[in-house]
Amino acid sequence: MATLDSVRWQLAALDISNKNPSNPARPPLHSKQPSQTIAANARLRTTYAAPNPTATSSNTKNKPPVTSFSSNASQPQPSAIHTKTSATKTRGQTPLPPPRTAEIMQSLNIGNYDGGLEKENEKRGEKVYGEAAKDLELDSSSARKSPTSEWSLHNFDIGRPLGKGKFGRVYMVRTKCEPKYILALKTLYKSEIVTGRVEKQTRREIEIQQNLRHPNVLRLYGYFHDEKRIFLMLEFAGQGELYRQLSKHGCFSEKKSSRYIDQMADALSYLHSKHVIHRDIKPENLLLGLNGELKIADFGWSVHAPGNRRMTLCGTLDYLPPEMVERKEHNEKVDYWALGVLTYEFLIGNPPFEDRRSVKNTYQRIMAVDLKFPYSMSIQVKDLIGKLLRHDPQDRIALSEVLRHPWIVKYRPKDCPRGSQTY
Ligand code: ATP
Ligand code: MG
Repeated sequence: MATLDSVRWQLAALDISNKNPSNPARPPLHSKQPSQTIAANARLRTTYAAPNPTATSSNTKNKPPVTSFSSNASQPQPSAIHTKTSATKTRGQTPLPPPRTAEIMQSLNIGNYDGGLEKENEKRGEKVYGEAAKDLELDSSSARKSPTSEWSLHNFDIGRPLGKGKFGRVYMVRTKCEPKYILALKTLYKSEIVTGRVEKQTRREIEIQQNLRHPNVLRLYGYFHDEKRIFLMLEFAGQGELYRQLSKHGCFSEKKSSRYIDQMADALSYLHSKHVIHRDIKPENLLLGLNGELKIADFGWSVHAPGNRRMTLCGTLDYLPPEMVERKEHNEKVDYWALGVLTYEFLIGNPPFEDRRSVKNTYQRIMAVDLKFPYSMSIQVKDLIGKLLRHDPQDRIALSEVLRHPWIVKYRPKDCPRGSQTY
């Protein structure tokens, strides 16, 4: 059973910061439906994805690939939950979360549980045997260097469903013991992971995410499993999917887009410093925290590749860079390209190389960097997008320069805490 200290231990270091996003005035242009996109992604992943032999190989159990992360990954961090001081840190330092977060957490109602976990477990859950079962014996209490407490479903009060993913539901939950912390509990059905042949990918996603600590990267606090399921204890992203906001509003203002891209560039810079390439940056994989701050989620396509250049074709079509379309080796600069595509999509509502006639047409537009800027875009943002969307990865502007770019600096508030969505 989890003790108070062990809960603190596991849930420490929450990073959430201030202020609400604004509403852009422009009419909706965004035409994709999330469900279509999810289905399309599933198809793309099946069609274009090759296995990642180097990312999580069979020797993972003995030697996890993500070994170069913070040495204090399993050490207690300064707890956000008990922090009463305000956020005054500057960029590059560990931020103190604003007191608002703790208050909001305390006041949140987790909603009513619909009994979905049990119902779904009866319908979907089948036992998994053999090598696959071993691969999926995922438990953060045994995986970390220093042992942490054992978790089980009994440690949580289950609230409302937050959504459904490919491999199971996500619920809003609260730990039963103090400090009664709110989390998103994501269920993955082992049998479906095995049917989808994504055991290694799933392990990889979990191993990568559990070692990351950045205010704009969704935290994975821990995980446990039972006979049929794996449960991920994820940071609760209070404002849900960024994609939903984009669909609702059609596009974002330059100010709002700039604030998001600032957070993205900072988070990507952090990921790359840990040798993690995300490779699947797109609005569907971004969540929003309680105060509207951006959180990169879904590390399914991430790869931990120190010194490695990769040749696996993956990711979503509209965000694929020329080197991946052309099946050349690629490196972390694929995420630079995706950042350029994202900036464009935030502002216009559609990605720049989208061609609904055929996949081939989109590919051709990507390879030709057939970029058309609408009249409405500012010169500054055109400059930034143009510098990110370069055919040759070496020509793309560095993330450190993105963080200094006039279009980013212009909208960044003076004492902006790192990762904040504050205007
Ligand atoms: P995939 O299975 O490819 O990850 P997905 O992203 O649609 O697909 P999930 O990650 O399982 O599926 O999430 C399902 C939905 O649950 C999301 O679309 C989101 O609305 C919600 N959700 C997931 N994680 C969180 C979280 N940490 N906080 C709040 N809501 C979440
Ligand atoms: Mg997801």
